[in-house]
Amino acid sequence: MSGVGVERLSSVCVAGHHTFRCRSKVRELVTAKSVDDLRTLHTEGFFEQNVIIIGHGSNCLFVDDLDVAVLKVDIGGLDARSHGDDQVLITVGAGVAWDDVVEWSIENRLGGVECMVRIPGTCGAAPIQNIGAYGQELRDRFHSLQAFHRQLGTLVTLASGDCEFGYRDSVFKRDPSWVITSISITLIKNGYVPSIQYPSLSRALNASSLTSPTLRQIADHVIAIRSSKLPNPATHPNAGSFFKNPLLRGDQATAFLQTHPEASVFGVDGGTIKVSAGWLIEQTGWRGKMLGDVGVWPEHALVLYRTPTGRATGNDVIRLARSVKTAVYAQFGVQLQCEVRIHSCGQQDQKI
Ligand code: FAD
Ligand code: NAP
Repeated sequence: MSGVGVERLSSVCVAGHHTFRCRSKVRELVTAKSVDDLRTLHTEGFFEQNVIIIGHGSNCLFVDDLDVAVLKVDIGGLDARSHGDDQVLITVGAGVAWDDVVEWSIENRLGGVECMVRIPGTCGAAPIQNIGAYGQELRDRFHSLQAFHRQLGTLVTLASGDCEFGYRDSVFKRDPSWVITSISITLIKNGYVPSIQYPSLSRALNASSLTSPTLRQIADHVIAIRSSKLPNPATHPNAGSFFKNPLLRGDQATAFLQTHPEASVFGVDGGTIKVSAGWLIEQTGWRGKMLGDVGVWPEHALVLYRTPTGRATGNDVIRLARSVKTAVYAQFGVQLQCEVRIHSCGQQDQKI
């Protein structure tokens, strides 16, 4: 028996619950709207089976029918309180849209997340890959989060160090025991100096002759750049960057730089370099190409998308991703890794 808050649907297609919108029937779709709902599910033994957690499904691909339960975390709420003299600590439910928090912070003149405007998805998913854009990352403003342990049924608070944030990475990618129920971030009230070093953003602000832009102006310029480069999932189903920018270390980094001095590369730390995956894909000639009803977005080679009227399946998306990955490896000896979380009956990991 479920608690009054838990919503359950059996044998349901989750096409409407991920932004690639590929058809995939799952055994059960369960929506939890509170921590109490999670406790109820734990008591019922729900977490003893194979469970896939989703928020808004903007970083995942359901490939085929799956004999699993999908748990949609839809916990709401936003609380703001002073944090020292110059900061505000805000705590938001895992189901709240990240972009609503960014817009709220801009309206309230609180700095620190304005460059991450229009990143789709929920606040609960934001720590999973330490979301980031235009020079800001979640970890820069992260305070703590609350998470429910699937097996133990306990609710704990985790600080930044516990989350092991890295480049589009966190402990949660390696340890799926946790259901994030809320996150807390600190925003800056007084004395905020916006960071506008990111090249395309800084160029756009300069072009508008904005030397001391407001938070709203920064966000609006980010929105304009994003709209010019990225397909809208509502019209062209996609999940943003399909691959991560590869990090190369040691001998591999040295060899890559010697062989490809023209490559788009950024230093990370201690000899590690980040290579633009979009640049690698462009060199293979895949940008703008189609494979059936799936394509590589012409304005952004990292984004794979389905045509609006096509019938492409999740397997068609995987086929294109494999072709792109193989071409990059053949030309550069670099293995691309998926950023998008793949849910397929044929595999349990991110390898395609
Ligand atoms: P989902 O896709 O539903 O889930 C993603 C992962 O998080 C899954 O592994 C899931 O199991 C896990 N998860 C979700 N909720 C919880 C929870 N409550 N507890 C535990 N695990 C959970 N990302 C960026 O970093 N920067 C960008 O600029 C960016 N731009 C994008 C642009 C487009 C057009 C699209 C479609 C995507 C973009 N993304 C970007 C990727 C995506 O927006 C982020 O990864 C986002 O955080 C996903 O949120 P979601 O709620 O949709 O997560
Ligand atoms: P871009 O400006 O064309 O640059 C390509 C890549 O180079 C980016 O991924 C970025 O890495 C890296 N880069 C550029 N300038 C850099 C610098 N000065 N220092 C370090 N790294 C630099 O990128 P884009 O693809 O249009 O995306 C713009 C921003 O939005 C990026 O931050 C990107 O991460 C984010 N974005 C993410 C997604 C997603 O789904 N994850 C989708 C669209 C946009 P970083 O990714 O580390 O910033």
